[in-house]
Amino acid sequence: MGTSNIIVYVPPVIFGMVAIIFLQLWRSGIATTWHWSAGFALTASGFLLSTFPVGPQFDAFVSGVIFIAAAYCYSSAVLEHFEAPPWHRTRRLFCAVYLLLLIHTVFIMQSLRYQLLLTDVGFACLVALALGASLPRASRGIDRILLASVGLVFADTMVRAVVFFFFVDQSDDLADFVTSTYNLSVHVTTITLCLTFPFAALAAIGSAAIERHRDAAERDPLTGLFNRRGFDAAIDRAFPAGISLGSVIVCDIDHFKAINDAYGHAAGDEVLAQLGRQLQQAIGAHGIPARLGGEEFVAYLPHHAPQEAAQLAETFRMGVANRILNLRGTSRTMTLSLGIAPLEPGRNTLQTAIDRADEALYRAKAAGRNRTTIATPAGDIEGEKTARR
Ligand code: GH3
Ligand code: MG
Ligand code: MG
Repeated sequence: MGTSNIIVYVPPVIFGMVAIIFLQLWRSGIATTWHWSAGFALTASGFLLSTFPVGPQFDAFVSGVIFIAAAYCYSSAVLEHFEAPPWHRTRRLFCAVYLLLLIHTVFIMQSLRYQLLLTDVGFACLVALALGASLPRASRGIDRILLASVGLVFADTMVRAVVFFFFVDQSDDLADFVTSTYNLSVHVTTITLCLTFPFAALAAIGSAAIERHRDAAERDPLTGLFNRRGFDAAIDRAFPAGISLGSVIVCDIDHFKAINDAYGHAAGDEVLAQLGRQLQQAIGAHGIPARLGGEEFVAYLPHHAPQEAAQLAETFRMGVANRILNLRGTSRTMTLSLGIAPLEPGRNTLQTAIDRADEALYRAKAAGRNRTTIATPAGDIEGEKTARR
């Protein structure tokens, strides 16, 4: 058995195995779409058809359909991975036009050269659309590698289309495809260049899955803010060399239990979610906000002295106090109490700063609520200032 004979078995076996792996990844929730698996399974079956041909016209038509369907699946998978617009209508219309042209080249023209050119260009266009729509969204290194491998698949397809149509003097008979140098070249580049694609896809979807799970562990599902664990982790990520001078704000809704009692827990949840969004808007650009638990929130503001943090806190507090809540058809307002403490690396830790901000918050509650209270430097909790306008 010659080398070229052995080569024909490699792509269907490899892509078949890859399809099974991606199917399992989809079933276990690691891959978010079945399109990866379907794309690889279609590629495997396309190669299988060229290994076990049925009849020239049947092979040419079915393999064209299979490869364009594979390209459709790959483009869907890539677009979904990057959360890009799906371009459903455009891609379906494109496939419909391709199908008509395929029928023309296979059954009317009966031209192998035009069938190969048409399928390669069609495949490359679908891949290029996904590539173009995803490029601006690739921010992680692994995603850029995925797009580079998509680019390789595109380049491989286009180069082959141009070289074999314009520069290689090959038979135009559909029956000669299996023994053509074109067929051999597809197998060789698929085993070498194009194999980077499933590996890059595997790495990218694995890394995205890890990120999703980390996000689920670090985020509070109700407000979308970090939970306490996420808060600590986000600070560690933002300040790998250690936390910097700044302030901690702790915030608690006043008489929140009354809102729950009067309007129900679901309405209370909606109030918490809305407050989370407001906190993110007010603080997000300056620091890291989080939901500590219940109706208590925290924010770390690096490079903000307590007085500067108090200005932000007061703007936030008044924004909330002036907002009319519509709860079960009833309008009402809600107030917050806030405590602020300085975070001074070397003198205190994040936890002790939160504890001190909590003590300041307790004093704000005791002083009548709807106010911001600043704790003075560590050790002196008597000299708090109340900032209320
Ligand atoms: P204070 O002004 O002293 O803070 O009074 P409060 O009523 O806000 O405080 P208290 O600690 O007595 O009650 C907090 C309430 O927050 C009780 C609890 O049912 C409610 N709560 C905690 N977590 C959630 C939640 O996730 N959703 C809803 N709807 N309510 C929650
Ligand atoms: Mg409260
Ligand atoms: Mg509370």
